[in-house]
Amino acid sequence: MADTSLNPFVRAQQSFKEAVETLGLEAAVYEILKQPMRTFEVAVPFVRDDGTLQVFTGYRVQHNDALGPTKGGLRFHPDVNVDEVKALAMWMTVKCALLGLPYGGGKGGIACDVDQLSEGEIERLSREYIRAVNLVIGPDKDIPAPDVSTNPQIMAWMVDEYSRIRGENTFGLITGKPLVIGGSRGRVEATGHGLVFATRQLATEMGIDFARARIAVQGFGNVGSVAATIAYRMGASVVAVSDKDGGLYNASGIDIDDLVEYKRVNRNLAGYAKAEPITNAQLLELPVDILFPAALENQITADNALRIQARIVGEGANGPTTPEADAILFDKGVMVVPDVLGNAGGVTVSYFEWVQNQSRFYWSEEEVNHRLEEYMSRAMADMHRMHERFGVTLRKAAYLVATDRLAQAMRVRGWLK
Ligand code: GLU
Repeated sequence: MADTSLNPFVRAQQSFKEAVETLGLEAAVYEILKQPMRTFEVAVPFVRDDGTLQVFTGYRVQHNDALGPTKGGLRFHPDVNVDEVKALAMWMTVKCALLGLPYGGGKGGIACDVDQLSEGEIERLSREYIRAVNLVIGPDKDIPAPDVSTNPQIMAWMVDEYSRIRGENTFGLITGKPLVIGGSRGRVEATGHGLVFATRQLATEMGIDFARARIAVQGFGNVGSVAATIAYRMGASVVAVSDKDGGLYNASGIDIDDLVEYKRVNRNLAGYAKAEPITNAQLLELPVDILFPAALENQITADNALRIQARIVGEGANGPTTPEADAILFDKGVMVVPDVLGNAGGVTVSYFEWVQNQSRFYWSEEEVNHRLEEYMSRAMADMHRMHERFGVTLRKAAYLVATDRLAQAMRVRGWLK
């Protein structure tokens, strides 16, 4: 059966539509939320190492700023396109509203393959992107952060470029920076930490002991590698992991600390001798208790959802499960920690980083983690209340919490006439 719901932008629109209808809100709420406030497409010219000029296409989308300045990551990936960035920005609006952060949703990216670029090329490309969008971003306007294939070093070049253009240090422009220039303790681990925290809580409610669970993790980047490490250190058996080139499986569990070291040295997972190679598709269908899709969109679809054996899917990626697959998982009794909660630890600690930058007062790691758990717990409780009140999936419940907050803000701001 072909899955008709693969366009993430259409999916994001549909989710808002359903939420507005379920809550019985003004039609104007959906009219405003169904598309971004602003969509920028920019040409990003930069000089290759051989001296030639190349121009890539970049985007920045600001979806809705009813609750505060827009916020969201920057993705470097060959598949980046305008509909994807729009959807990702809409999902950020939901995430920030659900977590109670004073932000709207934004997102950006450049269609490029970082594996084909040298470090110097990535730096020049990153700086040129900031030159292209510098007028529309800022600490009180729109605040970028890392996402797929971007990292603290890239954030450092970007904040430096912006600060040079503006003639003043503006650390609050961007989050996910290195510690030494205003990054927050706990930010690198935040998304994986939040994902494990939320999933463990759901597992406990379902009578599954997280510390003894068998876990498969798709994606070994900013989110997957940290979630796998935390789960492994808690005693869980991480039996499979993967990156974009394929996966590894060992039914008796993989030593994740050892594998992280292997990846640091070899740059990818392939060739690791203490596990068998498997494909990304096989990884999703393994007999495990918990599956963390932590790579890209549209991984669990109508084509494979029936074969998912996990009892819990904890979404580290944005949009890994299509709506048709969601319905199939629901019928099978598989619980899904939705992306807008599961990976919201990242933007929550980004918010803490921005607060620290604005106040120029820096917190301990304990304080960051304590507050992260407080924000996640509150969002989970709000989501569960809607889940019980309306008898809908956790994902739909998350949208109800967020849409209700967005509607309140837009109403008092006088946008819904
Ligand atoms: N890229 C992350 C996300 O999708 C983090 C965004 C942020 O920290 O602003 O949530």
